[in-house]
Amino acid sequence: MSHTPYHVIIIGGGISGLSTAFFVMAEAAQQQLTVQCTVVERDARWGGKILTNHLPNLLIEGGPDSFLTSKPWAMKLCRTLGLEDQLIPTNAENNQIFSLCRGVLRELPQGLLAFRPQRVDRLVSGGLLSWRGLLRMGAERFWPTSTSHHSEETLGGFFRRRFGDEAFDYVIEPLVAGIYAGDADELCIEATFPRFKELEHEHGSVIKGMRAAHAQAAMSKKPPGSSPSLFMTLRNGLGELIQTLLKQLTERGVQLMTGHGCQDVQAHLSEKGKFSITLDNDIVLTADAVVLATPTFQTAKMISRLEPEAANLLEHIPYTSTATISMAYPTGAVQEHIRGFGFVVPRKEQRPLLAGTWTSLKWPFRSQKGETLIRCYVGGRGREHILDHDDRYLVESVRQELQTIVGISRSPNYTEVHRWVRGMPQYVIGHRARTEKIKELLSVWPTLHITGAGLHGIGIPDCIREGNRVASSLVQSFLTHSRATPS
Ligand SMILES: Cc1cc2nc3c(=O)[nH]c(=O)nc-3n(C[C@H](O)[C@H](O)[C@H](O)COP(=O)(O)OP(=O)(O)OC[C@H]3O[C@@H](n4cnc5c(N)ncnc54)[C@H](O)[C@@H]3O)c2cc1C
Repeated sequence: MSHTPYHVIIIGGGISGLSTAFFVMAEAAQQQLTVQCTVVERDARWGGKILTNHLPNLLIEGGPDSFLTSKPWAMKLCRTLGLEDQLIPTNAENNQIFSLCRGVLRELPQGLLAFRPQRVDRLVSGGLLSWRGLLRMGAERFWPTSTSHHSEETLGGFFRRRFGDEAFDYVIEPLVAGIYAGDADELCIEATFPRFKELEHEHGSVIKGMRAAHAQAAMSKKPPGSSPSLFMTLRNGLGELIQTLLKQLTERGVQLMTGHGCQDVQAHLSEKGKFSITLDNDIVLTADAVVLATPTFQTAKMISRLEPEAANLLEHIPYTSTATISMAYPTGAVQEHIRGFGFVVPRKEQRPLLAGTWTSLKWPFRSQKGETLIRCYVGGRGREHILDHDDRYLVESVRQELQTIVGISRSPNYTEVHRWVRGMPQYVIGHRARTEKIKELLSVWPTLHITGAGLHGIGIPDCIREGNRVASSLVQSFLTHSRATPS
């Protein structure tokens, strides 16, 4: 059956937009459907939050540095793109992580989230918890479950209720809320880590549920040593994922436009089911389908005339701002101070620093021999004001933090600051109801989709999974349409 190619326009050239374009083209080819695809990016650079800077002696990630392997979609995409041999795990040795506890770095036992008892004891011996705190944490197995199955709970509310205040403050909070640079007393457990709540309901206890899952995994598992690293990255940085996507999109005839911000999306005046997309400088494009893969406050502006109620809901999804500060030192000046992959700073410690990563120890190939790369994070929910200062101030604050916490006193040879203003969406209480309502309001436009980190998961794997889902849905609607209107 022949037809004029369906034209899909994707706004936003981050991982969400580019992976959506990739899956649209792949799925259309599989269904022998001719689709023309255009991706529009406002900035001169592709990749959005994914930003890799190659220097002669260093490889610096300005945004994300890796992705979770337990969510398989990023690994799968890398394999599909032919990047399998570029995947690198975190260093298998010296992989400890520390938590700052009353001013002192204390090791977080490995396998902590699997709640293996021999490891959990180390919480006390390592000085992170008192015996009282450990007993309260262990009592989680017998703690009554929540009777309310309907109302949502904050991360703080859930974990304090299950594990007690001490374990929450020093062990759990910096790990779970830290991922969102968020405030655990605002973030919603059902929208951020639903699995923990499910374990409570299914097993009466998170610990029991985790152990059962572990035992089951062990029974069905591949040979010992074959389990992948918790995180993976690409040898030449995550920017390689973006570059490879761009190359393959170009080969498949996708039109890639940078330096064009989208202003407005409207229903086409004369062609039913089509959209008019207005870009900067009054460029107007026509499409059969539109995917908005932009931060939700940007998406809101684009559909404010088409669907004002959905736009209002999108606009009110909160975001927080962070900055990453990468610093390179001569190895000799820092090696006695650093161990493991780095440390997290619990909110309870009330410090400007969120976390520090010893990048050169965590990933091989990130710096040349003799040089050590460190990356620190500042900002986050309620602490965004630090970004009002200039880069010099940020570097100086982080240097002071490193001196106080780990004793590094010398100046770095090189520094690089990346600011992510309104860069991290916050899935607060009500997030799921809000996204459901947005979906319902937009259901009158079957070929208008919104995706991106602001809605269904902030991690790179989540963004890719959603890109795949949106692409399948679009291609299906084209197939249904072409069957209904044979040419
Ligand atoms: C500092 C930091 C560290 C992180 N670390 C990790 C990590 O280690 N692992 C992990 O999995 N995740 C991590 N994340 C989260 C993850 O990087 C992001 O959630 C993800 O990259 C977002 O991708 P996206 O495509 O949805 O959005 P973005 O990357 O924000 O892309 C959206 C794109 O839309 C463009 N745009 C906006 N408005 C318009 C417009 N009007 N017209 C056209 N284009 C427009 C933007 O310029 C941008 O390029 C981190 C995030 C940050 C900020």
